[in-house]
Amino acid sequence: MSASTRNPTTAVAAGIDLGGTKIESTLFDSDFLPLTSRRQPTPGNSYSTLLKALETEVQWLRHEATQKDLPIGIGIPGLVDPQTGISVSANLTANGQTLAQDLMARAGGTIVSANDCKCFALSEACGGAGENHSRVFGLILGTGLGGGLCQDGQLVLGYNGLPGEVGHYGLPAHIVIEHDLPLLKCGCGRIGCTETLISGTGIAQLSLALTGNERSAVDIASAPDEPDNSKVLEVWSKLAAEMLHTIQLHIDPDCIVLGGGLSNIVELETRLTNALNEVALPSVRRPEILKPAFGDSSGGRGAALLSLGTEERTDHEPRK
Ligand SMILES: [Zn+2]
Repeated sequence: MSASTRNPTTAVAAGIDLGGTKIESTLFDSDFLPLTSRRQPTPGNSYSTLLKALETEVQWLRHEATQKDLPIGIGIPGLVDPQTGISVSANLTANGQTLAQDLMARAGGTIVSANDCKCFALSEACGGAGENHSRVFGLILGTGLGGGLCQDGQLVLGYNGLPGEVGHYGLPAHIVIEHDLPLLKCGCGRIGCTETLISGTGIAQLSLALTGNERSAVDIASAPDEPDNSKVLEVWSKLAAEMLHTIQLHIDPDCIVLGGGLSNIVELETRLTNALNEVALPSVRRPEILKPAFGDSSGGRGAALLSLGTEERTDHEPRK
């Protein structure tokens, strides 16, 4: 049944996927399938206009669901401090603000916020591609590069919400030297983070360094066998494999679910599985590398799951 023909009053929670250019608001039923959804542009001029726009979305969701206290989660493109709720490193006017608390002060009810990569990981761990795995790492290969970790269907947030911030690992020195790759400044202020060459925007810089042409991730993904694109993807896969190896060494997930625009590269999961096999420690079990079940809609779905808290997620009990 399509979202438009299903009854929004059966909603149990809602998710708002807050992006740099659009806000997508979705109601979910008890199986965490979407009931209805809408998109609005993200206002960029001030925090107060952003809050106002989000309050309008909260009111629309609660009106559609006919529930004044409908729990709502917001996925944001930045870290959220798990102790204070302050957004940090967000490429939004919400940076440095307590977005969920400020919205609750205006609209009441339960509103939570989390990093969108963490929401993706939670969504794929609970009813998604990672459903039958206990330690699920969700890896977003999008405009930026980030991820999130779930253990038995629960997000692992750590002291600062950092688990999954793989975009700020250092690039592997031997590959940088072998291919004379540039060490670029990252948005975090450091030099040579993986994000600068492995993310969707980073792969264009990698293409420039290797071929002299700055091809976009979309160009490369749409023609992966074209000779220059193939060359870029070969080095990109080596860099990504080193990152996956580091993820395995310190997080040791039993599955990695890929998301973001680059995950649309044909058979990327096979490419990365083979690349990881080349560099992983011998004799260790390798994580299964999977396509996402929900893809772009996982941000809002994960945020909605988060808004219910774990104790109420009876349909998604931790797997044994
Ligand atoms: Zn960085």
